[in-house]
Amino acid sequence: MVKLERILVLGGGIGGMCAAIALARKGYHVDLCEAQSELSAQGSGLTLMGPALRALHKLGVWPAVRDAGNFATGSRILDAQGKVIVERDGHRLPGLDLPTAGGILRPVLHDILANRLREVGILTHVGLAASELLQSADDVEVRYVDGSSSRHDLVVAADGLMSSTRRTLWPEAVKPAFTGQGCWRLIAERPASIDRPTFYVGAPVTVGAVPCSPTHMYVWVLQHVPDNPWVDPAAQPALLRELLEPFGGDLVEVRQNIGPQSNVNYRPLEAFLMEAPWHKGRVVLLGDAAHGTTPHLASGAGMAMEDALVLADSLSTHETLDAALTAHTQRRVPRCTLVVKNSVAIGDAEMRHEPAATLNEIMTRSHKALVEMY
Ligand SMILES: Cc1cc2nc3c(=O)[nH]c(=O)nc-3n(C[C@H](O)[C@H](O)[C@H](O)COP(=O)(O)OP(=O)(O)OC[C@H]3O[C@@H](n4cnc5c(N)ncnc54)[C@H](O)[C@@H]3O)c2cc1C
Repeated sequence: MVKLERILVLGGGIGGMCAAIALARKGYHVDLCEAQSELSAQGSGLTLMGPALRALHKLGVWPAVRDAGNFATGSRILDAQGKVIVERDGHRLPGLDLPTAGGILRPVLHDILANRLREVGILTHVGLAASELLQSADDVEVRYVDGSSSRHDLVVAADGLMSSTRRTLWPEAVKPAFTGQGCWRLIAERPASIDRPTFYVGAPVTVGAVPCSPTHMYVWVLQHVPDNPWVDPAAQPALLRELLEPFGGDLVEVRQNIGPQSNVNYRPLEAFLMEAPWHKGRVVLLGDAAHGTTPHLASGAGMAMEDALVLADSLSTHETLDAALTAHTQRRVPRCTLVVKNSVAIGDAEMRHEPAATLNEIMTRSHKALVEMY
């Protein structure tokens, strides 16, 4: 086990919170700092596939996630009028009796992880943004925007897609790049027929409807936007209604209920993958800071959770920090590469209007590979 007195997790998103929990469970003393004033997330939904559920199970929060979210086995691909084209079997996790896919509201998952942080005794500093990391051979001095500082023998930088840690320590690293699609998100009431992740294809945009609580679902729409336009938030509900016009079935009511009061969120999609190594001295990147993906395989958060578990595992099974962090990256690169490359490939196929069978083939191949142990 690598001897470390004090670890700082920088960033309190899903990746950072899971890393702090996993490290504390191995007996490390962990502090976490988060720039935002609370450990929360904007109110949309999150699809969680089997590997993410396995990670949450290992982190000790599966019962709370199961009770608050909505999970099933398998998913469906429908045409734009709601006729089933493919019933997809879920890929079961070997040795674990867990569902294979479903969803949860992001703020709810954040609350569950924040409660777990408290249970395992992690000191959390919210509203505290790190501004500078100064490394020596023995430790890292972390300076904060409020003028304070702290010293740690490892910093886990889980500071997201636009990670300032990555941009400062790896100025040469590949940067997140726009993939050609934008993602619209909406929370809507769930009709009984949406009892598993459901995808609608064969129209100019692809739509997903994912149950994320007993009563609600998370609807996403992927649109080809080659010019990457800025979209005025005030105009978003009306634009989303237009995009949903070609769809029948359950989406008719979803569309009719969209109005100025709806919580609609639009975001252009970006992806990138850091080359190894993901550490420099005593600083290691984790989650979206090291590999940002599009949502096509619904696996970005799951990969961040797995990073957290593998990092804790690597530190507890190696003698030196460099060996542990090198082993960590070696284990993570193949899975994260698969997720980023195949997610982007599905988006490309959608933009070329490839048939549902092509999308299904990439999804099936990817999810089959991901249920294997990481
Ligand atoms: C449109 C869209 C839909 C998605 N849908 C899914 C999905 O359905 N399923 C799925 O698995 N994945 C999905 N993803 C991916 C998933 O959201 C991310 O992979 C995941 O949230 C990454 O978590 P993270 O903790 O690495 O980063 P983040 O969630 O970005 O967290 C980073 C945290 O660091 C903090 N921070 C940043 N800088 C500092 C600093 N200097 N000091 C202190 N704190 C700092 C930030 O405030 C933030 O809280 C989606 C992504 C997109 C864009």
